[in-house]
Amino acid sequence: MKPHEIVVISGKGGTGKTTLTSLLVASFGKTVICDADVDAPDLEILLKPEPLGEKPFWGMQTAKVDPSLCAGCSACVRACRFDAITMAEGKAVVNTSFCEGCDVCRRVCPESAISLLDTRQGTSYEGLTDFGPMWHAKLNPGGENSGKLVQFLRESALRTAREKGIPLILTDGPPGIACPAISAMTGADLAIVVTEPSGAAFHDVDRLSQVTARFGIPTAFVINKADLAPRMTEKLKEEAKAGNWKIIGEIPFKRAVVDAVAETRIPVLELEEEIKLIRKELDVFL
Ligand code: SF4
Ligand code: SF4
Repeated sequence: MKPHEIVVISGKGGTGKTTLTSLLVASFGKTVICDADVDAPDLEILLKPEPLGEKPFWGMQTAKVDPSLCAGCSACVRACRFDAITMAEGKAVVNTSFCEGCDVCRRVCPESAISLLDTRQGTSYEGLTDFGPMWHAKLNPGGENSGKLVQFLRESALRTAREKGIPLILTDGPPGIACPAISAMTGADLAIVVTEPSGAAFHDVDRLSQVTARFGIPTAFVINKADLAPRMTEKLKEEAKAGNWKIIGEIPFKRAVVDAVAETRIPVLELEEEIKLIRKELDVFL
């Protein structure tokens, strides 16, 4: 049987997505954990996995010119639609930040001076936490292909869950609705959107609802720091009712939660009652 997969997402960073994921991990106990927020992976700070192994992540290829073979004809400069090649002292030079690996320059070069090379974009890690196996990764600064890396992590987590007979995967997804977020949520059994009662929340909740609906993913919402702006929270609830969005929990602001996270502790005791209620609601989905 395919393990259930819950992905925790948000419209923007800093809404408490990772803290909620860590609390759910602690609450469920035996799970496979996947930190798919590869641009800012911080779930490991709270879960402290014992390292089991790491692998380089190779993204797309980029062009490289062998200056000893380059005759300076500029054919590659003219052919590159991404303006990734310039001439310097009579030789072609590739700016790898602009190169999209399309291979056109290699094909047009009359001197076979260009080759396409794999580029390391980050590292993936396998670890073991007190709650179960964990897959996570770090994308290099400015690294490309984060969606592909997220896909690798999710496939690894699914394989581990199947091998070990663990029925649940909990994924800390990237914020937003770009490629890595879509890569983290497609095919999941449930998306939990964490939002805060602010003006931006309405926009975030609306666009995330549209994305999850587009991919047919059941979606639930948690309002974090709900007591900081009670009027906004009420408005969010009204919107939820009108939009048929299911709110499964409200988390109040507590200084003790901030302190626990600063001490790299999961705030289990500080939010015991709130997580119990969220778990009750989640049982409906699982
Ligand atoms: S096409 Fe080849 S030979 Fe011509 S400038 Fe580019 S790398 Fe050099
Ligand atoms: S591989 Fe494509 S994008 Fe990269 S330098 Fe060559 S032509 Fe430009």
